[in-house]
Amino acid sequence: MSSVPFVTLNNGVKMPQLGFGVWQVPDEQATVAVGQALEAGYRSIDTAALYRNEEGTGKALAASGLPREELFVTTKLGNGDHGYDSALRAFDASLANLALDYVDLYLIHWPMPLDDNYVDTWKAFEKIYAEGRAKAIGVSNFKPAHLRRLLEETEVVPAINQIELHPNFPQAESRAFHSAHDIVTEAWSPLGQGKELLQDPELARVAAKHGVSPAQAVLRWHLQLGNVVIPKSVTPARIKENIDVFGFDLDDTDMETLGGLDNGTRLGGDPDNVNSR
Ligand code: NDP
Repeated sequence: MSSVPFVTLNNGVKMPQLGFGVWQVPDEQATVAVGQALEAGYRSIDTAALYRNEEGTGKALAASGLPREELFVTTKLGNGDHGYDSALRAFDASLANLALDYVDLYLIHWPMPLDDNYVDTWKAFEKIYAEGRAKAIGVSNFKPAHLRRLLEETEVVPAINQIELHPNFPQAESRAFHSAHDIVTEAWSPLGQGKELLQDPELARVAAKHGVSPAQAVLRWHLQLGNVVIPKSVTPARIKENIDVFGFDLDDTDMETLGGLDNGTRLGGDPDNVNSR
């Protein structure tokens, strides 16, 4: 079984650098897929209220029989639940859905600029954190300007910012901002959603050189940059393949080749324009 290294968050909490994402996995299927991921050695699971599979995820966690302290569970606040009181209520609902009494990481899913309420929302997160019901708190899809405001107006520095990041969209500016402020970068859609990126001929050359798949080479690129990654798959062979990335290293040239695939392609929304609930 692969052994996944840990990153240490700015509050000392240790998080597996590679985890399993469940966006777009229906609730019942999430129980199966998360069960397969735990069996394959993943210990970190990334869900969200918006994914409507917290319950299915929680069932797999319980059925695994793994000690709670070996698991790292992330969920996220839904976009319709910004605001101090709403966030507290939504967090209670997520814990109940997951059938847990704490999560390891709780994230604001999107900043929701038209609501302009993420500062108050973060104050609710600080309360949840102070109560020990989330071992770490962070954000997702925050640009440096959103983060700067949190840093200026609130107490707790986010442990993580989970953002869209892959070789076609490597987010150099955000990564530099995060490292300057001791915020870990977590990459969503790390495989570029399994689309054009994985067909890239230069990526194919790097992968062939190491005798690995394009997905494995991309995951290795993330890990060597220091990103936390959460690839998603509902295919058992790929679930295993995506965690089998600790037996080879990309060299500087490989890293440059993959870094050179930046073509500015965003697969998801621009956080400045996402305001839907
Ligand atoms: P990924 O980049 O993880 O790609 C997933 C896709 O790639 C699926 O279609 C999967 O197919 C395919 N795939 C997986 N492994 C392989 C492989 N080894 N070879 C070829 N194809 C493969 O995309 P996601 O968008 O799912 O991102 C990962 C996670 O990030 C999400 O599940 C979620 O947890 C998080 N996320 C967070 C967001 C946010 O706003 N905070 C937004 C989007 C995602 P199949 O399943 O059929 O095997």
